[in-house]
Amino acid sequence: MYVFVKELDTEKTFIPEGEIHSLLEETKNPDKKFVREILQKSLEKNRLEPVEVATLLNVEDPELIEEIFAAARTLKEKIYGNRIVLFAPLYIGNDCVNDCVYCGFRSSNPEVYRKTLTFDELRKEVEALVKRGHKRLIVVYGEHPRYSPQFIAETIRIIYETKVGNGEIRRVNVNAAPQTVDGYKVIKEAGIGTFQIFQETYHQPTYKKLHPRGPKSNYAWRLYGLDRAMIAGIDDVGIGALFGLYNWKFEVMGLIYHTIHLEERFGVGPHTISFPRIEPAIGSEISYNPPYKVSDEEFKRLVAIIRLAVPYTGMILTAREPAELRREVLKLGVSQIDGGSSIGIGSYSQDDPEKVRKSQFILGDNRSLEEVIRDLLREGYIPSFCTACYRMGRTGEHFMEFAIPGFVKRFCTPNALFTLKEYLNDYASEETRRLGEELIKMELERIEKRELVEKYLERIDRGERDVRF
Ligand code: SAM
Ligand code: SF4
Repeated sequence: MYVFVKELDTEKTFIPEGEIHSLLEETKNPDKKFVREILQKSLEKNRLEPVEVATLLNVEDPELIEEIFAAARTLKEKIYGNRIVLFAPLYIGNDCVNDCVYCGFRSSNPEVYRKTLTFDELRKEVEALVKRGHKRLIVVYGEHPRYSPQFIAETIRIIYETKVGNGEIRRVNVNAAPQTVDGYKVIKEAGIGTFQIFQETYHQPTYKKLHPRGPKSNYAWRLYGLDRAMIAGIDDVGIGALFGLYNWKFEVMGLIYHTIHLEERFGVGPHTISFPRIEPAIGSEISYNPPYKVSDEEFKRLVAIIRLAVPYTGMILTAREPAELRREVLKLGVSQIDGGSSIGIGSYSQDDPEKVRKSQFILGDNRSLEEVIRDLLREGYIPSFCTACYRMGRTGEHFMEFAIPGFVKRFCTPNALFTLKEYLNDYASEETRRLGEELIKMELERIEKRELVEKYLERIDRGERDVRF
C-alpha cells in the first residue's frame, strides 16, 4: 500500500531496542570529564548522539546532575530567550476503537461518557476560547471511523472561521490517530500547524501489552505515522512518549532515535517533543499506579536531558503537571505550555456536571489562562501567542534555518511582545495589564530596532491586530 509496507511487516524499525539497552548499560557510572564535554557540545547548539544521551541519562552524582540542570537552563536562555508560547487543547470527540489501557477514552471503558461536539457546539467552544484570549489550539480526537480526515479538516476550517470581535484562532495543531498519506493531505489542506503523534512507549513488548486491540495495536504503523505526514507535505511534526509505561531512560533514547530518523530521512527533525506523564484516568487502574512511575526529580532530569540532546526542538509541557512543578520545569528547556486548559468535551463553553466522565484524564494544573499569564509575567517570561513563522511560511526546514543566533532577538522577541500587547489590550485584568506593560518596558530597553518595535506597539494601541515582523 505504501512505501512502508516492508517496515510494517517486520519487527525491524529505526528503534534498535538491543542497542539502546547496551548503550544504557555501557555508559553507567560516567566519567565526569566526558559528561562535561557532552554538556559543552550541547551548549554549542549541537544535537547529541545516542551514546552521549545515554551517558547523561546515567549521571547519578548530585553535583553533576546540577550541572546538567544549569546547562539546560543556559541553553534554553541562549536559543529561546525568555518567551513561553501559550496554547489550549480542544477535545473534539472521545469515541475510540482502541483500547489503550491507560486512557479514559479506551473502547472497553464503560465509565466514560461518549461525546463528539456538533459543529455548533464546536463554534461555541472556540468562541469561549477566543474570548479568553487564546490564539493557538491543539485539537484532539479519539480514533474512530467518524473522525475521518474530511471530518478533521472540516472541524479545523470551522475553528479558523470562528471570530469574536478582534479575536481569532491563528494556528491549529492536531493530535489525532496516524493517517494514510492521502488522509494527511486532506487535513493539511485545512491549514494545520503541527501534527502530533505520541508513540506512548518505544519499547515494543510493552507497547503490545498496553495496546491490545484496534489499529493502534500496530506499533510500526504508529511509529512511521509522522513519516507519512511528512511525505504528505506536513512540515511540522511533533513526537512524544507517555512517561510511566516503561523505563524513562529507554523512552528518552527512543525520542532521540526518532528525531535522528526524521533528520536523516527528511533533513529536518521534529518541530516539538512532548513528554507527558500518565495521569489518573476514569476507569483505568493502571493510570493510578503506572508500572514505571516517574518521580518529579526524574522528570526534571529527563526534561533537561531532552533539552540538551535536541537544542532546536520545541518542548511542550502540559497542564497534566501541577503548577508548582511546571514553574520549575519551565526553566529547564520548555518552550510551550497550555493555559486555562479544560479537557472535558464541551467544557469551555459550559459548566458540565459530567465533565470528569467526558475527560481523558485528570489535570494537575487548573489555573485560568489569565492566572498562568500573570505567573509567567511575575517570573520574567514573555507570554507569547506568536504564530508569525507559521503564517509567513517559515515552517519545517525553514524553521531550522531561522533558529540561528540573532533570529530570536530580531523576530521572535518583538513578535512575542506584539501578541502580549494584544492580549493585554483585549483580555487582561488591570493587574495583569500593569505587569505586562512593565515587562514590555523592560524588554524595550534591550531590544534591537527599538523605534520600529515601538511603532508597531502603537499600531496595536490604535486598534490594529495581527501585526508581526
Ligand atoms: N487518540 C489519538 C491517539 O491516541 O494518538 C490522539 C489523542 S490521545 C487522546 C492524546 C494523547 O493522550 C495520547 O497520545 C497519550 O499519550 C495521552 N494520554 C492518554 N491517556 C493518558 C493519561 N491517562 N494520562 C496522560 N496522558 C494520556
Ligand atoms: Fe483512544 Fe487515543 Fe485514548 Fe488510545 S490514547 S484509547 S487511541 S483516545
